[in-house]
Amino acid sequence: MQRRSFIKKSSYTGLALSLVPGLTLSQETEYSVAELMGKVDIELFGKDINLRKEAHDAFVEMKRAAYSEGMDLKIVSSYRNFYRQEGIWERKYLQYTEEKGMTKLGAIEKIIEYSTIPGTSRHHWGTDIDIIDGYPKTTGDVLVPEKFEEGGPFALLKKWMDDNANKYGFYLVYTDNPKRKGFKYEPWHYSYAPISIPMLKTFRRKNIFKLLLEEDIIGKENFTSGFLKSYIQNNILDINPDLL
Ligand SMILES: [Zn+2]
Repeated sequence: MQRRSFIKKSSYTGLALSLVPGLTLSQETEYSVAELMGKVDIELFGKDINLRKEAHDAFVEMKRAAYSEGMDLKIVSSYRNFYRQEGIWERKYLQYTEEKGMTKLGAIEKIIEYSTIPGTSRHHWGTDIDIIDGYPKTTGDVLVPEKFEEGGPFALLKKWMDDNANKYGFYLVYTDNPKRKGFKYEPWHYSYAPISIPMLKTFRRKNIFKLLLEEDIIGKENFTSGFLKSYIQNNILDINPDLL
């Protein structure tokens, strides 16, 4: 258990007990809004891994197993803070609106095929990773679905992950279920469920509408309540049901 959460949990326990004797206490760790939105520095582990301790340890174990079967499980992206996500958002927004002449709403709809609104990325949590196999030679962008399909350089890795990832606590987030809405199929994005499930639970209890509108995000005037409602429903919550 992390020291910080231990302290938080114990003080909460003390307070609750003094107010409500005999209350059954939830064992759930409380995560702060700032932490869920990638706005505070969290302790990250592992060179080129950058995950929370428990997720890091599970990843290392999984990497070792994959290695023994001829794959080099390599992280392309893991923890990303609010400001990094804001940079990605802004770059894409300007590219689509100014260079490509798209409407503001059109640009936003295009961005959210693969990228999140800053403050809502699972990469803020220190539990999620984008991975490839470091062995096969490949050119161009690596995070494209075709590369993970039959005949592609990462097909072997995808097959191995399908069979083994769950044993280590990692689950695919944006599956290829045709009924799923929100972000497109991402065969590279896995989440460490034992931590990300409680984090998502906490996130859902917060007023995300209000939080996003308080941020200085380019294009946010297009975040109507209808837009945000469907964003949360589709992009945040329409994921692999094992992660809910
Ligand atoms: Zn990702």
